[in-house]
Amino acid sequence: MDQDHPLVRDVYPDLITELVSLLEDEGERELAICVWDVRLFGECGCSDDFCQSIRTSDHLPGQPYGQGHRCVPLLPAKGMLNLDVVDGRIAYVEILDRPTMRREADT
Ligand SMILES: [Zn+2]
Repeated sequence: MDQDHPLVRDVYPDLITELVSLLEDEGERELAICVWDVRLFGECGCSDDFCQSIRTSDHLPGQPYGQGHRCVPLLPAKGMLNLDVVDGRIAYVEILDRPTMRREADT
């Protein structure tokens, strides 16, 4: 087990459920499977109160992603959800203008 980096589905189960169905809607079947296993590396770190983005890789904020990066915009009912994908791995989940996410107790 990776104690430092919990599974996002354990911390924000509702978010992962929503991401899976949005990715399936976009035809991103592979990402819909990958997103189930992404880990929470940290918060975005900006202080914008409309931003609840999370880092799902050890990629450092502010650094360019370089080759192999693509952005996957999704169409949630509320706010904005975008994924940054690098070489098929989800590096970052941009979560903007969304209702405050319920965080499960860390146990
Ligand atoms: Zn932010």
